[in-house]
Amino acid sequence: MNLIKQNIEKLRNDLHRHNYSYYVLDKPVISDFEFDTKLKELKILEDKFPKFNDENSPTKRVGGTVMKSFDSVIHQYPMYSLDNSYSKQDLEDWNQRLIRNLETENINFLCELKFDGVSINLTYENGNLTKAVTRGDGVQGDDVTENIKTIKTIPLKLEGSFPEKFQIRGEIIINKYDFAEMNNKRLAEGLEPYMNPRNTASGSLKLRDSSETAKRPLKCFFYQVVTQKNDIKTQKEYLTSALDWGFKISNTYKLCDNLAEVMSFINNWDKERSRLDFEIDGVVIKVNNIKFQKQLGFTSKYPRWSIAYKFKTEQVLTKLLSVSYQLGRTGAVTPVANLESVLLGGTYVKRASLHNQDQINKLDLYFNDHVFIEKGGEIIPKIVGVEFEKRDLYSEKIKFIKNCPSCNHVLKRSESESHHYCPNTDNCAPQITGRIQHFISRKAMDINGIGNETVDLLYKSGLVLNYADLYNLKKENLIVLERMAEKSIDNIYFGLEESKKISFERVLFALGIRYVGQTVAKNLAKEFKSIDNLISKTYEDLLLIDEIGERISKSIIDFFKIKNNVKLIDRLRNFGLQFEIIENDKGLIDVLSDCRFVISGIFEINSRDELKKIIEDYGGKVSSSITSKTSYLLGGNNIGPSKLIKANSLGISIISENELNDLIESKH
Ligand code: AMP
Ligand code: ZN
Repeated sequence: MNLIKQNIEKLRNDLHRHNYSYYVLDKPVISDFEFDTKLKELKILEDKFPKFNDENSPTKRVGGTVMKSFDSVIHQYPMYSLDNSYSKQDLEDWNQRLIRNLETENINFLCELKFDGVSINLTYENGNLTKAVTRGDGVQGDDVTENIKTIKTIPLKLEGSFPEKFQIRGEIIINKYDFAEMNNKRLAEGLEPYMNPRNTASGSLKLRDSSETAKRPLKCFFYQVVTQKNDIKTQKEYLTSALDWGFKISNTYKLCDNLAEVMSFINNWDKERSRLDFEIDGVVIKVNNIKFQKQLGFTSKYPRWSIAYKFKTEQVLTKLLSVSYQLGRTGAVTPVANLESVLLGGTYVKRASLHNQDQINKLDLYFNDHVFIEKGGEIIPKIVGVEFEKRDLYSEKIKFIKNCPSCNHVLKRSESESHHYCPNTDNCAPQITGRIQHFISRKAMDINGIGNETVDLLYKSGLVLNYADLYNLKKENLIVLERMAEKSIDNIYFGLEESKKISFERVLFALGIRYVGQTVAKNLAKEFKSIDNLISKTYEDLLLIDEIGERISKSIIDFFKIKNNVKLIDRLRNFGLQFEIIENDKGLIDVLSDCRFVISGIFEINSRDELKKIIEDYGGKVSSSITSKTSYLLGGNNIGPSKLIKANSLGISIISENELNDLIESKH
């Protein structure tokens, strides 16, 4: 067979396969950059050798296959893909094409961030959201309206003077911080963490039960209005109008008069993107003038008036030195790859998580392999593949350990779990210190003054064998310990004393009952009000509670069956920890105790002082400036512009007075 033809066909097959993994399975095998490079290569070959044309080539498709479970809807206006560029030269070529087409050099560009989530097309009629459809294959997508309605950043009704009927497109994302929180919660509940924000957002739209979608921290940035209405003249005006109608528009866009300005926008965001609280994978450049956009039109796949500039996902090759196994407080064993130190995205990387046995098998990992690593949505880099050609002839396949790396007890793995566990809960040191470390952690008892290393030290010295022992610590025993100054001891006592104010739901979470994460602990506390009441409940009673299924219910019953656990609780209670819900003097529960607010703007219902009081009555904090610790910007009309920019750049939710009410409601 002709060598060129063979090559084209291999690329097509590869791309079909990767397209399927990426769009249908939501499990990309290669990086976007590699995929785009292959696609480009194919496009060049196809252009050069038109006799090998194929109507079904991946280059002719926008991508994706429609899933069956939701109604399929044909897009009134196809959701085109974007042409990609990777260099200044690519952009200059594009600009030359524009100049030729428009017969003018007087073109300005609106540069936007390329949000890395899933796109959605919404239809609004008379100011009401009537339909939400996923991109699907670009021609038709899935009707996910009910799920979309649960996303708070998507307006259900509009404000101001909007067109009678129009469509708007946006990108649904999950913030990095929310994503990390979500995974922490899952880990605390003994569940497998999600792989990355984009796939999780995408999966969230296709959940059958919209109340499940509602629990996901989804957000949406809008970037494109599609309408026949003619009085809007520029892309920038579309964005500012959409903002007025009530859509969330990132204020990161910039109008550029020439390519040099475009390049500096790109370079700036390539540098700064790690500081954003959401993922972007590039920049989108659009011809600002709508008349020009119409003149330019579309190819069969892309708008001619827009192009994406993709940032590179940096990938490096390094050597796998060994695999170590970490033991968590629940006894779960996580394999970790130790790597030959290598520079990636500005930091040296020495380790990568391998998740579990299935992941090791999927990668087909051998000792001494050379592996490709990449930083994805997660902070910890991941191994994305093996360079098989460099494999040592005699090296051995990595086999998961059979015994606990700490206590040597035989590990267990049940059918339904992806992790191996050490069942020796009471005598396995990392599990014991892990439980104490969980107890003192920020989300639990938040005991400042004791760090994880101190816990190890206290355990090794025999002073603290469980979390109740912390409250028995004597000064004379502490002072003799290594690196324990007078000042550190004061901090420990202060932290312990403060922890006695921590609410019952958090104490319940701190106990470290398997599968009882923050949400479950909150629901239990709300329902049963005290630990005694909770202990008296049966397996069946527990099943009636929100979010509590058979697995959690059994775990709670098992926990209280162990006499030692009840004894620990009694001791903690005697030390003064909260084992019941305390309502404050206004009869209000401290539902906002984890939240920090900044208030800005002019409000319609309550004054600022009144709002401050409401927040504080419910246990929340109000501060004057926005930091990464701020949970919400409570905004009225005319929010201070600097606050708005800061909040947006940190990905902090902006809520209205009404939404504050909803928030308080939802936390009860
Ligand atoms: P691609 O998936 O690489 O073909 O890129 C096209 C996709 O980029 C669109 O379908 C959108 O989901 C996404 N996108 C993200 N941000 C923007 C933006 N500011 N303008 C247009 N598309 C965007
Ligand atoms: Zn063990």
